[in-house]
Amino acid sequence: MAVKGIYDYSRERLEAYFLEKKLAKFRATQIFEALYRIRISAFSQITNIKKEVIAQLEQDFTFPKLEIVTKNVARDGTTKFLFRLEDQSLIETVLMIHDYGYSVCVTSQVGCNMGCAFCASGMTKRIRNLTPAEMVLQVLTIDNYLRQEEKRVSHVVIMGIGEPFDNYDNVIEFIKIINDPKGLEIGARHITLSTCGIVPKIYEFAELNLQVNLAISLHFANDEKRSRYMKINKKYPLKALITALKDYFQKTKRRITFEYILLKGINDSLEDAKELCNLIRGLNCYVNLIPYNETGGIFKRSDEKVRDQFFDYLIKNKINAIIRKEHGHDINAACGQLRVQKMKEK
Ligand code: SF4
Repeated sequence: MAVKGIYDYSRERLEAYFLEKKLAKFRATQIFEALYRIRISAFSQITNIKKEVIAQLEQDFTFPKLEIVTKNVARDGTTKFLFRLEDQSLIETVLMIHDYGYSVCVTSQVGCNMGCAFCASGMTKRIRNLTPAEMVLQVLTIDNYLRQEEKRVSHVVIMGIGEPFDNYDNVIEFIKIINDPKGLEIGARHITLSTCGIVPKIYEFAELNLQVNLAISLHFANDEKRSRYMKINKKYPLKALITALKDYFQKTKRRITFEYILLKGINDSLEDAKELCNLIRGLNCYVNLIPYNETGGIFKRSDEKVRDQFFDYLIKNKINAIIRKEHGHDINAACGQLRVQKMKEK
């Protein structure tokens, strides 16, 4: 077999590897505990496995690492990591501090092909998908950083650069790895995957019934506007999206989150709020209203008064909504900004 990164493997896949090598499959659990509990950085550090097995593992697997290029810490403790991958690609990962724990916003692709007009990441095309290991390492590296202060990553959101459903198989493998009770043990209900709405994958994802949270980057509640600013809507318009979400809820019984970035004069009027209510009424969901992080382009952040009116309208119309607390405003924590800045410098 070709040499692979050890962090690419879920326990299920490792068990299959050991069985193929005619070795006991419980070795997979030992490896998982060594990687994610003890945090070994070489197989030779494992003491409870025979030398021949260690030699086989050394032959078949590598220990990939992420290089930390920069680490910016905001006044509120939000920390933005710029990582360099082994092929020199740069990715961003953000650590956020909440009253309920420590959450990591993971990147799933180098660049993104979805081309949402208001997004810094959408300005750069997808170069490649991240492997499960490259996503696992974002969480693990930050967890190691927190460990120095006896803290741990408690939540993971797949909302960084990239469209997770455009890298479906690797993202699912990643979720299985970080959720594993013998590994990092991030509870399924503490993991959120955010998609701009690749409809066939929503159906596929529902079948897995992983019990993770699904968030939809909605941002517009009518097709004309959504198609203008989000290319995905031309392929999968709102009716198809909502039908898929109804199916998702029926199968998983999981509440859906709608992400709605408020853009000044574009999607923040009371008419927009009314359209949003009409679109999602009856769904078990809530709306996350997000103040826009300006990136120097044509899009501007909505005024606070307009934002509050929008929010009040939703509440009066019995739509669950919150205004998302901002994290790391002083370090440009919006996804993609640091990477784009670094690339410009180059
Ligand atoms: S918002 Fe998400 S899906 Fe859209 S371009 Fe940015 S990273 Fe890609």
